[in-house]
Amino acid sequence: MKKLSRAAGCIELSLTRKLFNLAKQYDDVIDFTLGDPDIQTPLAIKEAGCQAIMQGKTRYSQNAGLLDLRKIISAYYEEKESLSYNPENEILVSVGAMEGLYLVLLALVDAGDEIIIPAPYYVNYKQMTMMCGGTPVIVEDPENPLVCSADKIRAAVTKKTKAIIINTPCNPTGRYLDEKFLQEISEIAIENDLYVITDEVYKCLVYESGQRLKSIASFPQMKERTIYINSLSKEFCMTGWRVGYVMGNADLIGAITKLQENVAACAPLPSQYAAMEALRTDKNYSEEMATIFKSRRDALAEEFSKINGVTSVAPPATFYAMLDISKTGMGSEEFAYELLKSKHVAVVPAKTYGNLCDKYVRIAFTLDEKKIREGVRRIKEFVDNLGI
Ligand code: PMP
Repeated sequence: MKKLSRAAGCIELSLTRKLFNLAKQYDDVIDFTLGDPDIQTPLAIKEAGCQAIMQGKTRYSQNAGLLDLRKIISAYYEEKESLSYNPENEILVSVGAMEGLYLVLLALVDAGDEIIIPAPYYVNYKQMTMMCGGTPVIVEDPENPLVCSADKIRAAVTKKTKAIIINTPCNPTGRYLDEKFLQEISEIAIENDLYVITDEVYKCLVYESGQRLKSIASFPQMKERTIYINSLSKEFCMTGWRVGYVMGNADLIGAITKLQENVAACAPLPSQYAAMEALRTDKNYSEEMATIFKSRRDALAEEFSKINGVTSVAPPATFYAMLDISKTGMGSEEFAYELLKSKHVAVVPAKTYGNLCDKYVRIAFTLDEKKIREGVRRIKEFVDNLGI
């Protein structure tokens, strides 16, 4: 048989998936691997999707998504972030944030172009950049493995750099970027004529600040060069509905709309109708979910405080926590495999998010509180047995 393509050959199964798959062999496993909320999509949103199906709204939409949905997205950002995007030509509805991201990279990357990805990073950024023939430039900071400094990012820029991808709040760290950092990134982007792709799918889950985080798109001179990606997956517990969106300048949105015709044609139509209900600005469907995750986060932190030998800081955002395992003397893969084998608890070796993260494992607290407490109790047993 002839060889498969370069793109097929450069992709690896992530450690997240490996651990998730391995976890399936145990009936009593506590699975902290996937960022897939166990909470139901709010009823009114589900009803809007069902109603669309029953009314026969089951065909294709425009490649960029229903104009009515784009108008709602536009109004949402006007109200929540004072950002104006023209629904006619500055917004595209995608099959989740993931497909939006992929279309954006397809539109930006030529062979050899570099995309700067600060570590720790969402694994798909790297893989998608490679699928598009680009070179992912992973930037790590030995002084702070959990937040790469702006100076390190600046130093990574070359003539081949096309874009910097930022993810705030961040999967896997559960932290968000402060305004000083975003200002520095803006300066780097403007000085070097770069795009900034900002993935803000977790901005609905910020526990401490009390107000919506400012996007880099709202910084002076940044709207034109920022490609703003968001999704309904986490905000409304709609991962399986597969609906996200990209906002950016008309040239870029025009380009990804043409690409969309050839990739997915459009996001699923019933999901687009459900999204219209979800994004109504007079409702606050995501509030209850954020309260549940905050209480889970606090339960997790309380349980971790009972363990000697591993430490975890309560994350200010997202549903991910990083557990520092350096005192165990194990690398993150060894820790994760041993923990799964002996206690049937699945976590993700954080090595998958950057080499410097090998002293952490990531925990997704997308399980109910009882399971979270039981999972951490088993981790305690595991660590206690190591005798550190
Ligand atoms: N970005 C980040 C940082 C994520 O963690 C995820 C999902 N795990 C996505 C994007 C993809 O979201 P969606 O379901 O909207 O494709």
